[in-house]
Amino acid sequence: MNPKCNDFQVLVIDDSPVSRKLVELPLAQKQYKMIFAKTGEEAIRLFEEHRPDLVIMDWVMPDLSGEELCRRIRSSPQDAYSYIIVLTGSTDKDCLVEALEAGADDHLTKPFHRGELLARVAVGMRTIELHRQLRMKTKLMERLALTDALTGLPNRHAIETWAAGQLSGAARHKFSCWVVVADLDHFKQVNDTFGHDAGDAVLQKVSKILKANTRASDLCGRLGGEEFLMVLTYAAKDEALAVIERIRRELDKTAFTFGGCTIRVTASFGLAGFEGHQKPSIFSKLQALADEALYAAKRAGRNRVELAAAATL
Ligand code: GH3
Ligand code: MG
Ligand code: MG
Repeated sequence: MNPKCNDFQVLVIDDSPVSRKLVELPLAQKQYKMIFAKTGEEAIRLFEEHRPDLVIMDWVMPDLSGEELCRRIRSSPQDAYSYIIVLTGSTDKDCLVEALEAGADDHLTKPFHRGELLARVAVGMRTIELHRQLRMKTKLMERLALTDALTGLPNRHAIETWAAGQLSGAARHKFSCWVVVADLDHFKQVNDTFGHDAGDAVLQKVSKILKANTRASDLCGRLGGEEFLMVLTYAAKDEALAVIERIRRELDKTAFTFGGCTIRVTASFGLAGFEGHQKPSIFSKLQALADEALYAAKRAGRNRVELAAAATL
């Protein structure tokens, strides 16, 4: 889809009312959105407030030099790129070089040709559109890199990043933090009996159940395979155990259906953590303790919740 001119905001900077009008009239016909500044300082203020896509600026202003204005606009921290076109009164090449070195993308010599102004603004618009698409794709890639494709839950990398932050918050503000590792029992048999697609469907449904039972402020992710991890905060030990026990029971009683078959699955859980008054641990240590507890649950017959011994100290 071609971008429309009215999707772009242009900041026009010129101390001369006549010059401002000469820029405004052709751009208004094309329906660009515009804001105007009469001084360099006003331009900086408007730029920081509106973050326009394009800037058309006179090189000679009463309060700031063109070079300083250009550099200040360029160095203003921003996510999106702004395309700068400089209007110079001379054909002096040194002035053009100075403008480009200060961060300008293009220039026009006054008096300019109306069609040339519009053509150069359209080039700027294409550049801005490319930047927008690149930013959108980068955001999408960042999201995908943190998301497990099968279940839509945060993946191992996202879990580790998030949990480390949460744990240091818990240590600083003395709130409790519990790491829970869950592993489906005899899941290989589900695949062997009903097929891999059925196994995938079960993993998706299990994810929904885990997610539905986790508060928005807590975390529920997929470590990989049929292993999940949850982080529960602000819960006393007994409350955390009760939450996990409720999830265990819900999985136990859920009948998963796939292609006319009914599939039953259970899960084992290992829990490790600390309450606000205890000395916190690093995430990998807590995860290792939760893992040990999980293996204890497996050894004790599966479909159960075990608390890490160290977590009770
Ligand atoms: P245990 O109770 O000891 O955990 O037994 P288990 O069979 O669950 O454990 P094991 O580690 O032997 O097997 C895990 C199985 O999980 C192996 C694999 O078939 C299945 N699995 C792992 N990832 C996926 C997946 O993405 N999709 C499907 N369908 N199956 C998966
Ligand atoms: Mg398993
Ligand atoms: Mg496993």
